[in-house]
Amino acid sequence: MTREECEALDAADPLRHFRDEFALPDGVIYLVGNSLGAMPKAVTQRVATAVNDEWANRLVGGWNSARWYNQPTDLGDRIAPLIGAGPGEVIVGDSTSVAIYKAMAAAVRLQPGRRVILSDLANFPTDRYIVEGLVKGLGGDYRIRDIGDLDSALGDDVAAVLLSQVDYRTGARRDMAAVTARVHAAGALMVWDLCHSVGAFPIEVGEADFALGCTYKFLNGGPGSPAFLYAAPRHHESAENILSGWYSHADPFAFETAYRPADGIRRFAVSTPHVLSGIALSAALDMWERVDLHEVRAKSVALTSLFIDLVESSCGRDLTLASPAASGERGSQVSFLHDNGYPVMRALIDRGVHGDYRAPKLLRFGFAPLYLRYVDVYDAAATLAEVLGKELWRDERYAERLAVT
Ligand SMILES: *Cc1c(COP(=O)(O)O)cnc(C)c1O
Repeated sequence: MTREECEALDAADPLRHFRDEFALPDGVIYLVGNSLGAMPKAVTQRVATAVNDEWANRLVGGWNSARWYNQPTDLGDRIAPLIGAGPGEVIVGDSTSVAIYKAMAAAVRLQPGRRVILSDLANFPTDRYIVEGLVKGLGGDYRIRDIGDLDSALGDDVAAVLLSQVDYRTGARRDMAAVTARVHAAGALMVWDLCHSVGAFPIEVGEADFALGCTYKFLNGGPGSPAFLYAAPRHHESAENILSGWYSHADPFAFETAYRPADGIRRFAVSTPHVLSGIALSAALDMWERVDLHEVRAKSVALTSLFIDLVESSCGRDLTLASPAASGERGSQVSFLHDNGYPVMRALIDRGVHGDYRAPKLLRFGFAPLYLRYVDVYDAAATLAEVLGKELWRDERYAERLAVT
């Protein structure tokens, strides 16, 4: 495909107007929206209002009049449609790691007699670390088993399974409905991590027991924006929140000495919400209300496929595709392997093409369809070809490791 053909695709793109709603620095092709999404311009005004009007003038009254108190469920109801859930089924707060802890603890305790948690070594490390910590806390003979082949790992000792729908390294995408059905057939509960899915394509939580994810990646909620947690309504009465903070109490402002869990999804709250982070997220969600996720998916498939085609035709001998070649099996990212992945990525970033690097060899490129253009994909592939073709990455400046890759 030529650059002119890419320009024509941009002109016909039904999502093209959204790009103007983002603050993007000049000269940057941002392919890291799967790690920290770009800033919707509306955030500036919304946060300023929250600080200068709500906080400065209303002070503690803001908990009522600005609905800060209701923020966890208000935001949850707005995320629900993005994952195929209904009102009262999603709560927002804490971080993804904390949400994993709450969901896995609740799932395991709903399954007395079963002592095994199935986890995948390919899971994002925090997912794995949190489950290890939970198993230690539960004590007794609880243990983790790694999923190699799901069917042989499932047995009548398995309480719950934790998997990411999209692999954070390769971008490989699982069939949620099929996996959930297999897990349920074995009598276990299914917990999905949707960090690399939400905002990238339409999701159906379907029969899943719990699901969670972060809001600062494709949803553009801002650095450190709170996580979301979905619990299937059938578990609302029986599931327990192991982090039984006062916000999960049936009546927090009664200040009762005895703990009584709230009805519904609010029992998965923990404590005072991070209001300002939630406000930035709410500005991003204003935009998502106008987005058709099917259009997002169609463009995402087109962008990732175009990138793979361009890169394989111009630098195919230097790189190995680490993502599925079939678009239906991919999320919204493309990864390639290169023996010198770190300096290659530094050289790319130096030329305005921002991807990221994951040890030991992975070059990761995320494609956020709301603000990326086809010409950006064309230019990014051309820059990568130049960095590799002229071996620009060999410059010794690029060998030095920075703290965050
Ligand atoms: C980004 C990401 C996280 C991040 O967890 P935090 O608690 O927000 O730091 C966790 N799991 C997966 C799969 C992720 O992609």
